[in-house]
Amino acid sequence: MLEESAKAAWEYGRQFLMDGKVADYIPELGKANPVYLGLCIKTTDGKTVEYGDVEQRFTMQSISKVVSLSVALQHVGFDKVFSKVMMEPSGDAFNSILKLDTASSRPYNPLINAGAIEVVSLLAPQFSFEQILDFTKELCMDDEITLNESVYHSEERTGDRNRSIAYLLKSKDVLEGDPLAACDLYFRLCSMNVNARSLAGMGLVLANGGVSPATGERLLSAQVVRTVKTLMFTCGMYDGSGEFAVEVGLPAKSGVGGGIMSCVENQMGIGTYGPSLDEKGNSIGGGNTLKYLSRALHLHMFDSEND
Ligand code: GLN
Repeated sequence: MLEESAKAAWEYGRQFLMDGKVADYIPELGKANPVYLGLCIKTTDGKTVEYGDVEQRFTMQSISKVVSLSVALQHVGFDKVFSKVMMEPSGDAFNSILKLDTASSRPYNPLINAGAIEVVSLLAPQFSFEQILDFTKELCMDDEITLNESVYHSEERTGDRNRSIAYLLKSKDVLEGDPLAACDLYFRLCSMNVNARSLAGMGLVLANGGVSPATGERLLSAQVVRTVKTLMFTCGMYDGSGEFAVEVGLPAKSGVGGGIMSCVENQMGIGTYGPSLDEKGNSIGGGNTLKYLSRALHLHMFDSEND
């Protein structure tokens, strides 16, 4: 049942690839092949089901915002983090600077650029990139994750909008410390090279309440995981989060590299890779694959037994 539905979902998702566009505002990302689509599912009872381009590496981009938020909640603490960022969907594009100047000095949530740069600024004095990379490897159950140097340099060269956000936060005394150091760590975290399998691994740890099913080790506290999944549900797909919640009904986080990481409570982690993006910057193939899968297997958080 899982195998057939996963295959059908992947085939369904493939039909949309030509309706989207690969991100090219970070020049290096523009080299991705829009026809790639990979789906990997890892279940809490140890099964892996996968179709398509699941070994293809790509950069995590905004999915790393889940990692930085998790590390910050775990080590910097809830009070400090949520004194700096809110927990509200922004309804604006991921890289928007608008509300930050007009509506609130605190970024709306930790999963848009402004919020993530703020969160990363809290990590920068305490953690090196390598330490967070090592933790990401554990979360993703993937030892092969490395820094994609060319994407990192490409984003570093063209990241003026993110640097503007960091300086605006600094001017409002929200960001403490060095805005450029925060941006540098943020760009590196965005450039971690994962694949659909790694994302399924991370989803699996989240589905399993923060305990790695592979080792039995607790990687994140239950409270951190609950908070992160709630924010993924309400804010993880940027200004497409509402529609995604209605159509798919699962916590998910996308990145402009083409990945989506999602999870089903106590059941499975799901990773998709498809660099062709819709107008909101979410993977068009991955999003449609998840929509099909959710319907076929009744995975929507609010599916009732009486359906
Ligand atoms: N590194 C990207 C940026 O800051 C991440 C954005 C994304 O994945 N939506 O613009």
